[in-house]
Amino acid sequence: MEVRAEALRANLRTLRERVGPGPAMMPMVKADGYGLGMLRAVRALEPEDPWGWGVATVEEGRELRAADPDRPILVASPVPPGSYPDVVEARLTPAISDVPALRQLAAAVRSGSASVDFHVEVDTGMGRAGFDWRESGRWGREVSEIEAGVEGFRWSGCFTHFHSADRADDSSIRTQWERFVGALESVPGGGGGKMLHACNSAAALRCPELAADGVRPGIFLYGGAAGEELPESVPAVRLRARIVHVRDAPPGTTVGYGATHAARSWARWATVAVGYGDGLPRALSNRGHGLLRGRRVPVVGRISMDVTVVDISEVDAVEVGEVVTFLGRDGEETIGLEEVAAHAGTVSYEVLTGLSRRLPRIWIEEGGR
Ligand SMILES: *Cc1c(COP(=O)(O)O)cnc(C)c1O
Repeated sequence: MEVRAEALRANLRTLRERVGPGPAMMPMVKADGYGLGMLRAVRALEPEDPWGWGVATVEEGRELRAADPDRPILVASPVPPGSYPDVVEARLTPAISDVPALRQLAAAVRSGSASVDFHVEVDTGMGRAGFDWRESGRWGREVSEIEAGVEGFRWSGCFTHFHSADRADDSSIRTQWERFVGALESVPGGGGGKMLHACNSAAALRCPELAADGVRPGIFLYGGAAGEELPESVPAVRLRARIVHVRDAPPGTTVGYGATHAARSWARWATVAVGYGDGLPRALSNRGHGLLRGRRVPVVGRISMDVTVVDISEVDAVEVGEVVTFLGRDGEETIGLEEVAAHAGTVSYEVLTGLSRRLPRIWIEEGGR
């Protein structure tokens, strides 16, 4: 698995140009930097001087805090009850979705005698976390009162999350934005002085006027497509493996578990040392492709845990040790993340985060191909 650091920076700059110099950049580096490696992704993006980082869990936040002592780290998902002392100790910025969570955080702040910033998530239609936008008259005051009662406690931000920003039709984004802004009106102070943020990659590109005080891009940084009719990102990841065995297959020869493919005429097959145990989706069995010397070679049979067989009949004199590319560019041909995701019946996010620990992450700095 090769990762180009400069691609992440180039994609961040594209977002920056889109939203302008004002909004804070909060790259989402959750799920081990979308599978690329969180700390390496952070190191790659640091030269662009982001305002802070976004993670999903306290464990991710703690690991990141050890590497970056200064920048704010938003934990964007609700955390389990026992985790608040760790939130305080690592100076993380939790997203608060309900009053009991806020009280637990308050207790941890008191006993840790530290100060903590928190952001309030407002649910405007995502339905998985956040205070209900329709009830801000109730929770707005209560959150304010709890904040005021604890020394070192600072309600410094409010955010929401769009459910369909990948779609070309932006009407749901606008509806959710209006709900968000409407909810803030019944918060004491009207949300004034708080950092407001809503946009993921797709929303930042589609509706940069809603970038507000900050944006939370993820997939676009890592080379994924943010959504319909949006600019393309620079691909960041390439998945390649070596041929470890080559054979001639007489007509009728079967391949893989279930013998789901048989050679119709004489064929030549190559066994490549990558399988679903590495995160190559098994759903690519009998439908995906690899690239060999810049040419497409079809996957034949089911993908196994450790190996995948491709039909190399159309390529001359292939030798053991040659490299097959399953994701990314080889010569003039490319297998894009979206193609793999479509074949696998999923999204680019799941393909990237599914690439397993077994694959070495080889980060290529500037100048590398
Ligand atoms: C993951 C996540 C993002 C990033 O979304 P992308 O579609 O990857 O840009 C932004 N905000 C929140 C709350 C998230 O969980």
